[in-house]
Amino acid sequence: MADIKKTPYYSWRIHRLAKGCDLCVQGRKLVLFITGLCGKRCPFCPVSDQKIYKDVIYANEVPITDFENDFSKIIEETKLCEAKGAGITGGDPLVKLDRVCGAIIRLKKEFGKEFHIHLYTPLDLVDETKLKKLFDSGLDEIRFHVDVDDKKHWEKIKLAKKFSWDVGVEIPVIPWLEEHYDKFLDFVNGKIDFLNLNELEVADNKVWQKTKEQREIVCKDDMSYAVEGSEILAMRILERCKELNMRAHYCTCKLKDAMQMANRIKLRAKNIKKPYQEIDDEGMLVFGVIKLTSSADREVCAKRIMLKSKIPKEMIAVEGRKIHLHIDFVEKVIKRKIPEIIEVGVMTKYPTYDGFVVEYDPLYEK
Ligand code: SF4
Repeated sequence: MADIKKTPYYSWRIHRLAKGCDLCVQGRKLVLFITGLCGKRCPFCPVSDQKIYKDVIYANEVPITDFENDFSKIIEETKLCEAKGAGITGGDPLVKLDRVCGAIIRLKKEFGKEFHIHLYTPLDLVDETKLKKLFDSGLDEIRFHVDVDDKKHWEKIKLAKKFSWDVGVEIPVIPWLEEHYDKFLDFVNGKIDFLNLNELEVADNKVWQKTKEQREIVCKDDMSYAVEGSEILAMRILERCKELNMRAHYCTCKLKDAMQMANRIKLRAKNIKKPYQEIDDEGMLVFGVIKLTSSADREVCAKRIMLKSKIPKEMIAVEGRKIHLHIDFVEKVIKRKIPEIIEVGVMTKYPTYDGFVVEYDPLYEK
């Protein structure tokens, strides 16, 4: 009988991880959010208010406004992150089945058969015809989101085994539903290839605001959004999986932050980094920022700063209303006291499409 083993990715497993997880922990999966439309109202829904119940598409953080004509943006993002596969998610992707199948076909065409694609879907819209369409498009792995406290659609899981792909169930571990898990495990045992258990995480959205009004939710610690009690229950569920000799993986919030996201970010940073930017240990881009008076000509000022502070051409650039430069030259520029400069600082930002600023440290202000 296989034991419960700690992985190097802050998670626990029985038997080996699913192929989709193998690539995910390396940061090698593109997250393709195919639609926010969904007929369900899960009280633990992690999807942001900007996306949920809206027909929007994102490739990682890149908004795709026109699926047919903007597919090149999905390809580009895949290349920038050096992804070797994609995880298609939503909403309920089956609401837009043709779009999902189109994405699978086009990604496989561009990156080859080996490009591994998995899909997350609730069971509500699942039927054999839809599964066949997904399988025929080239989907490698299907993961069902299941309501453990409502067996209405459970039988549909069996339909997926009619096709030669990997079939999994991926569910959050919800402490207040503890009594339901054993019954569900007994049902799925022998019917799926793997079970993924997700540590429950509080999201910053309206759904969770409501959930928090209805029940007392305590986070594990000040640094985490993981819900207290989820991990203890997950370990209990794993013990039961061990008795059943089920292939299972308990995926923590820390895995998502410290492995999946961090590794993806580092790969993207390497590919989008400009010569004047440095990459810090967490994969963030770090660079100097110069703000000028509103009347200053940015191009002329950049040239003057470059010459006066002896900055190589590639280490300084005009970006929008500001001048960006390598951090090694920031102090030198401050000492020059150029009249048009009103502020100099160091910025740290995500290397993602939205370029979220983590920190801005002003070092000089006029
Ligand atoms: S099925 Fe998924 S996207 Fe839809 S409400 Fe539930 S958690 Fe949110």
